[in-house]
Amino acid sequence: MSELSLEFDTIAAVSTPPGEGAIGIVRLSGDDALKVADQVYQSGSKSLATVPSHTIHYGHIYDPKSTEVIDEVMVSVMRSPKTFTREDVVEINCHGGITSVNQVLQIVLQNGARLAEPGEFTKRAFLNGRIDLSQAEAVMDLIRAKTDKAMYLALQQLDGNLSSLIRNLRSEILDTLAQVEVNIDYPEYDDVETLTAQLLVEKAYQVKASINQLLQTASQGKILREGLATAIIGRPNVGKSSLLNFLLQEDKAIVTEIAGTTRDIIEEYVNVRGVPLKLVDTAGIRETEDIVEKIGVERSRQALSEADLVLLVFNQNEPLTDEDKLLIEATDENHRIVILNKVDLPNQLDLVALESLVDPESIVKTSILTKSGIDVLEEKIAALFFTGGATGDRDATYVSNVRHIALLHDAEAALDEVISGIEADMPVDLVQIDMTRCWDLLGEITGDSVQDELLTQLFSQFCLGK
Ligand code: GDP
Repeated sequence: MSELSLEFDTIAAVSTPPGEGAIGIVRLSGDDALKVADQVYQSGSKSLATVPSHTIHYGHIYDPKSTEVIDEVMVSVMRSPKTFTREDVVEINCHGGITSVNQVLQIVLQNGARLAEPGEFTKRAFLNGRIDLSQAEAVMDLIRAKTDKAMYLALQQLDGNLSSLIRNLRSEILDTLAQVEVNIDYPEYDDVETLTAQLLVEKAYQVKASINQLLQTASQGKILREGLATAIIGRPNVGKSSLLNFLLQEDKAIVTEIAGTTRDIIEEYVNVRGVPLKLVDTAGIRETEDIVEKIGVERSRQALSEADLVLLVFNQNEPLTDEDKLLIEATDENHRIVILNKVDLPNQLDLVALESLVDPESIVKTSILTKSGIDVLEEKIAALFFTGGATGDRDATYVSNVRHIALLHDAEAALDEVISGIEADMPVDLVQIDMTRCWDLLGEITGDSVQDELLTQLFSQFCLGK
């Protein structure tokens, strides 16, 4: 990062989500944060420049030109370096309405601050050495976390769990590379080539095992972070909408808006025992009268192929139909839970026949009408994705970020090159190159070896004000 200048101007943005709230916060960061705040802050003769660090102050924000008072506020003053960005930070707690927060921001911008780019506060924290890249990404995850578990995962990463694991692996690789250099430069024994090759291959296997372990947590981590894409399908009238509505009630529904797209997308999430289910659009299948025809429709197939989980609903008050069998066939490749609904009504479905078509373990009997069996369904959903039981392993280091997962796969491939190179008796200095590449790739996770371009792209994904 040496080529980047670390002298930053003072930035400002609204740090709280848009909309009505009890309070809204305008945050400033930079060398002039206190000076800018002082220009628009009024509280008798008090000056923010002279108050102790990490204190909060009552007063008013006003327009120094017109002397008009804009809002009654509490202002937090936090001086460098013990702040999120490691710069001087001022947070103005305004009354929550959109207009008042925006007016305060405008006044601050007219008096020396610049509007922050999305993610710029976090970017500064990174550039000033306060956090590493995987931690910066965790900030973004925290903001977008959809369940407690997702939040916990991000917090852990923010704590530096993943970073320290990666740093350890890197330092082990570096030790080995150093040892290899020494062996090559000062061969003490005749069989130094063999010894060096052995050293490299052993380390490659060892690091590979650690990477493998991390990657095994990837599917769970990604799901925690991004939600489990879930499709509820079945013939008309089996109870799909009833199930959906049941899942959506009890404050379980989480709606997130993803800004920045041509049209703001609204995604629906339900929280089932800490697993965020992202309900994918299967309208093509859900609402059709003619399943056979619709299954052939590209859109329905697409929805199914993208689903991490399929909830396939049958009415056990009716015999299994050809359409049901078709749906079983269509979802054979998916993680699937088969729901036999309406158990409050007499059974008409041949269970033995069904069990020959689907995994008997995947079958759950429910009555959404009488609310029975839904506990078991929720348990099955959770158990599917937490191998450590329904609660999940709280202490595991999960890797969840797509970028991190891709880098770990690349690092693993580099180690495979090391191993096959040694096995093919390739010269040690050639094998060394692959080991060094592995070291580099791991460094990209923590940001120890990343390019500016990547940084700009990563941080631009952040929300404004973070
Ligand atoms: P969908 O077409 O698959 O979405 O089915 P709906 O959810 O609209 O349900 C169709 C009908 O079945 C409605 O009248 C529901 O009230 C009823 N229903 C749903 N679940 C149950 C259940 O467990 N038992 C009984 N007896 N009726 C149910």
